[in-house]
This record gives sequence, structure tokens and C-alpha cells, in this order.
Amino acid sequence: MNREQHIELDLKKIEALGEIREDENYEFRTFLKQKNPERIDEIVHRLNEEVSSRIDCTKCGNCCATLQICVTHHDLERIAGRAGAKVEQIKEDYTETDEFNDLVFKHVPCSFLKEKKCSIYEARPDNCRSFPHLHKPGFTSRLWGVVGNYSVCPIVFNVFERLKKELHWKY
Ligand code: SF4
Ligand code: SF4
Repeated sequence: MNREQHIELDLKKIEALGEIREDENYEFRTFLKQKNPERIDEIVHRLNEEVSSRIDCTKCGNCCATLQICVTHHDLERIAGRAGAKVEQIKEDYTETDEFNDLVFKHVPCSFLKEKKCSIYEARPDNCRSFPHLHKPGFTSRLWGVVGNYSVCPIVFNVFERLKKELHWKY
């Protein structure tokens, strides 16, 4: 019988395991950096499809509740257009510049998060559309971000744990 692997969805447990496994995850990062990036992308893309298809983001919303999202001018134009407001007003009300000089939403949880759902879904920033970015090429070049998101996002957590198993990696 083909039994589906367990999916961890408990956000508190995921956050706690992120702390407990911090050193382990950084060691796995070092291991991954030595691997063929295209081969790792192939595996991660497959695992991401398997895991994402079993997680309902509308019941989670933890990225919107805990992360500071980078936004672009184009994002602000889209949000302003939807709200019938001026871009400068949206920029002043909802954004600030962070320590890396990036424009980010200033409120965490995000001001547009309503009952675990995005209230501007059609106009949400590109960065939100793409999160947690596991479908993109270049997984091994973004591992700092992946390890950071491991404790926040159940998709990242479950994909990273499956990747350890698939590569027979042990701490
Ligand atoms: S704009 Fe929407 S998708 Fe993006 S962080 Fe805010 S609530 Fe989440
Ligand atoms: S992308 Fe991750 S953290 Fe965000 S809602 Fe989906 S499962 Fe939750």
C-alpha cells in the first residue's frame, strides 16, 4: 500500500523545531552547497508540488502574519489602482525602508491580512505571489532565506525535511 508521508502543519511545533534544528539546518545548507544545483532544483520542485498540493494557505497565513514583505513601485501602483488611491498615499500609509534600503510593508502582521486571508489577493505584491519561492530555479543559491523560512512556513519545513530524507542526509 502506498502510504502518504505525514505533513507537519502545527505552526507552534514548526517554530520550535526551527530553533532546535538551527545548527542542523545550517549544516544541511553546507552539504547542499556542494551538490549539483540543477539536480537539487529538480528534487525540490517535485517535493514542492507534492507538499504544496496538501497544504491550504488560506488556513495558514503565517507568512503574512510574521514576515516583512518587500514591495516594488509596480506593486504599489497595482494596490493603489485597486483602492482608488494615489501611489504616494499607499506608499506613505503602508511602507517603510528597511536596513538594506529595501521598500517593505511596515506592519507585521500585514495590514491586508484579514482572518488568515489576503484582502487584496488579486493586487498582492509579486513577492507574495511567489512565496515561498520553491518553484524557482536556484534553490541552492537562496539557502539563507530557506533556512529562515523553515520555522515560519509549513511548505518550506516539510520540503526541507523530505529533502534531507531523499538525500539520505543525517545530522
Ligand atoms: S499583501 Fe496579502 S499576501 Fe501579501 S503579505 Fe499582505 S496579506 Fe499576505
Ligand atoms: S506560503 Fe507557507 S506560511 Fe504562507 S500561508 Fe502558505 S503555508 Fe502558510
